[in-house]
Amino acid sequence: MVLTVQNVMKSFPGADGDVPVLRGVSLSLERGETLALTGESGSGKSTLLHLIGGLDKVDDGSITVAGREITSMNDRDRSALRRTEVGVIFQQFNLIPSLTVEANIAFQARLGGAFDADHAARLSRALGLGDHLSKYPEALSGGQQQRVAIARTLTARPKLVLADEPTGNLDEATASEVLGQMLRLVRETGAALLMVTHSQSVARRMGRHVHLSQGHVV
Ligand code: ADP
Ligand code: MG
Repeated sequence: MVLTVQNVMKSFPGADGDVPVLRGVSLSLERGETLALTGESGSGKSTLLHLIGGLDKVDDGSITVAGREITSMNDRDRSALRRTEVGVIFQQFNLIPSLTVEANIAFQARLGGAFDADHAARLSRALGLGDHLSKYPEALSGGQQQRVAIARTLTARPKLVLADEPTGNLDEATASEVLGQMLRLVRETGAALLMVTHSQSVARRMGRHVHLSQGHVV
């Protein structure tokens, strides 16, 4: 398994004490598998992705990424794992405005010490970014910026990709095209993908599908 989530609990402080968001969530992903995660707004989808990505800590339960239990890891090891094994793609593209497209694409792989220029060039071409490498993010459309974010993530060869409504900021036609490219490239690289979406049609294109409701996976 690339990812195993077991009985994860998470609450946040509210006005009248702690409010449980995740009440014992379990799921798992094998190598190369793609899984859609749906759920109403506020059901805890982003919270779950943050926990898996090591950006926040569980209250209880365990999360294993690429064979390593992250909930008991120290912060340094967890960030190292995040850099090398996990890739995240958000709705906001989070590109670095002062870097060219090419440097943005290389950024994460360089941080993790695993930059492969040929791999980066192949991904850039597959995503139609070949003519834009020396531009800055502000000169690109939203769809192109999200393609840069996808190329940046996949260039680092993560075993697990976490995507939180990655096409939520794009118009429908662009969203569908970017999603298709992302699914194809993720499958080509053999990474597992856990993607939050609010679209049932997107969920259907992904194969497996789980729904988060009342703090549980259904
Ligand atoms: P979703 O992504 O499914 O829309 P979220 O995971 O963002 O839902 O949020 C789930 C619930 O947890 C919401 O009620 C939200 O207000 C709360 N929440 C999320 N993050 C925090 C936080 N850092 N501090 C306090 N409450 C939070
Ligand atoms: Mg969310």
